[in-house]
Amino acid sequence: MKSIKLFSVAAVAAILIGCPGRADAKLRVVASIETLADLAREVGGPRVDVEPLSHGYQDPHFVQAKPSLVLALNRADALIYVGLDLEVGWLPPLVQQSRNAKIQTGQPGNIDASSAIGVRDIPNIPADQLRAMGDVHPMGNPHYWIPPDNALAIAHLLAKRFTALDPAGGAEFESRARSFADRLRKKGSEWAPSVARLKGQKLVTYHKSWSYVAAWLGLNEIGYIEPKPGIPPTANHTAQLIQLMKQQGAKLIVLESFYPSALANIIGRETGARVVALPSDVGAMSSIRTYTDLIDAIVTALAATK
Ligand SMILES: [Zn+2]
Repeated sequence: MKSIKLFSVAAVAAILIGCPGRADAKLRVVASIETLADLAREVGGPRVDVEPLSHGYQDPHFVQAKPSLVLALNRADALIYVGLDLEVGWLPPLVQQSRNAKIQTGQPGNIDASSAIGVRDIPNIPADQLRAMGDVHPMGNPHYWIPPDNALAIAHLLAKRFTALDPAGGAEFESRARSFADRLRKKGSEWAPSVARLKGQKLVTYHKSWSYVAAWLGLNEIGYIEPKPGIPPTANHTAQLIQLMKQQGAKLIVLESFYPSALANIIGRETGARVVALPSDVGAMSSIRTYTDLIDAIVTALAATK
């Protein structure tokens, strides 16, 4: 009797804990934004089940906490997130509530994608001081996932981290990351003519979320509609920005569709600049299902403004 009871306890424990090394068990991955979810699918293929916690049409700084998100986190073998405080307003409490030891900070299942990239705009003022001033980028600029070099660096990080969680899949993860790199190289030559035409254009954005894209495309960022990242526009700042744009001949304003467009349109009319609403994440529009769809959409929309 005793041995039967022990067996059943062990069986239940095995089901509850899960065992990603088993041939029939997939690694359960959750990602804070849809682009990271898509990169996880690229690398993980049939060995992973991936669930995004937010939608690409939402502002990733502010995602509504729902019980379904806690449940997804509770079941996860791995959590991938942007980091650099992007999700600080919503994700840490959910991770805590999930009571899932595997995805807590410092565990192999806790994957901070920002560790793969070179962070821009690292402030020289202490983070706490910047947070107190309302700056939502106190750790550096977290909007890094769009340029192909960064997406590729994240894919390689995921291959490494998935291998640690599912060693039997190691060769497959590496080979999938390499074929993603090959596809990006091919797409890169398709994008090259449009990208070349954009070089040197002066750019104003609503939020400081296009700096990595500007660096990739050779655009020259001259200002932002928000006075500081996360601080709503003011009349004074707007007047100064309009003056600067006129002086510098800036003819392009870019914003994500979840930011209010009315002020951008007024600034556009005052300065003769075009206002372009760009997708910033997979899922921003129903036609953007993958990372390469996202880059196609951004490059096409920007090239159309020239
Ligand atoms: Zn931001």
